[in-house]
Amino acid sequence: MTVPTSNADYSPLPMFDLAANDEVNYGAIGVVIGHEIIHGFDDQGSRFDELGRLKKWWTDEDRKAFETWATCVVNQFYSYEIEPGVKQNGRLVLGELIGDLGGVFIAYAAFMKALEDKPRPKDIDGLTSEQRLFMSYAQSRGDSTRMEAQQLIVKTDPHPVARWRALGTVRKYNHSVRRSDVTKPRGIESPVLSR
Ligand SMILES: [Zn+2]
Repeated sequence: MTVPTSNADYSPLPMFDLAANDEVNYGAIGVVIGHEIIHGFDDQGSRFDELGRLKKWWTDEDRKAFETWATCVVNQFYSYEIEPGVKQNGRLVLGELIGDLGGVFIAYAAFMKALEDKPRPKDIDGLTSEQRLFMSYAQSRGDSTRMEAQQLIVKTDPHPVARWRALGTVRKYNHSVRRSDVTKPRGIESPVLSR
């Protein structure tokens, strides 16, 4: 594994830091763990049973609901451009989107559970612990990618480019970070979803 590889291992930084506040680790390695679990239920994983056999084990009703939801996410990412006229292929990245959306959901829910019956963590630099969890996620996913590399990624990689992987995912959780301007980094505007 190379130094810049964003890995799904349990190895240290950038996904885990013993010295960091809990929300920072929930937003990074917590999301990664949730992401990998959710792959078992994404557009491909959901077609295999618990022993890895190709098997239809969902009801038609559940599959239909899944497709409806998946189409919404696919369309969301088809609206994201890396440069004028060059868009993400929403269908290509669907499995990874499901992993990220589910991973963030699990990490956030786990963090909320961990806080039960405990005093609320203090705000730091004007940010709540929930906001810092989402910022940690964005920082762990975000990186600087040359445009030439991004052009290759949107054509061949089942992962979205870093910018949309970070911003497109947390957009689904706007309700939790609305009080801050962290959802609108300077110069970046996410397309508004139809639903
Ligand atoms: Zn993945």
